[in-house]
Amino acid sequence: MIYGIVSDIHGNLEALRAVLDRIGKVDRLLCAGDVVGYGPDPEECFSLTRSLRAATVLGNHDAAVCGKMDLGWFNPDARAAAVWTRSMLSESSLQQLSLLPAALSFDEFVMVHGSLSAPMDFNYVFSASAARPCFDEMGDCSLCFIGHTHMSEVYVQECGTLSVDQIAFTDGGKLDLVPGFRYIVNFGSVGQPRDGNPQASCGIYDSGAQTIEVVRVRYDVFAVQKRMREMDLPEFLVKRLEFGA
Ligand code: ZN
Repeated sequence: MIYGIVSDIHGNLEALRAVLDRIGKVDRLLCAGDVVGYGPDPEECFSLTRSLRAATVLGNHDAAVCGKMDLGWFNPDARAAAVWTRSMLSESSLQQLSLLPAALSFDEFVMVHGSLSAPMDFNYVFSASAARPCFDEMGDCSLCFIGHTHMSEVYVQECGTLSVDQIAFTDGGKLDLVPGFRYIVNFGSVGQPRDGNPQASCGIYDSGAQTIEVVRVRYDVFAVQKRMREMDLPEFLVKRLEFGA
């Protein structure tokens, strides 16, 4: 099976279309959460992922926008964007968002937005020590897909050991999955990368070849910024897109 993986789309339709074009035809599309929030086209992004039957887990922004999480957890810009996003979504989309599961299990992998340790707490896996509690929850499973930090990176742990290696995939790249090791893979953010590379990020998992690939894709950042300004979204959120920070 060939899986295409997107995460943290954040209402950025321009970036989503670019990564879907680049991924091409896959057997199954996966989304590791945060389809909405921040960007100017939340309804269109959610509709597109639904029409492509993407298996999707709930992100913290999805949860906040549909009323499953208190907006008090957010900084003022994120809160303003979440309130605006809620006003832009149809009743049906809000309802569908609220039904997204916190985690999904497949034969060969699991997927969650933040960390497998208490998925609804949306903990950030941003370091080797933060990855350990997530590895602890993986049991016999050797592969976990996550999002949330907006960084393209992979955490690797040899089975039976406690040490964890952190590998950055800021410019994309391919990795062979080796038996005897476990992996937590973050394919980065489609709609708001924060690892210093403003290109949209996504991934491909080939379960037959046992490879994962992080792919970075150019898109028209300035068109999205223009649209965000037209929508009066916070300038900090507009600006950060061109720096990927
Ligand atoms: Zn996010």
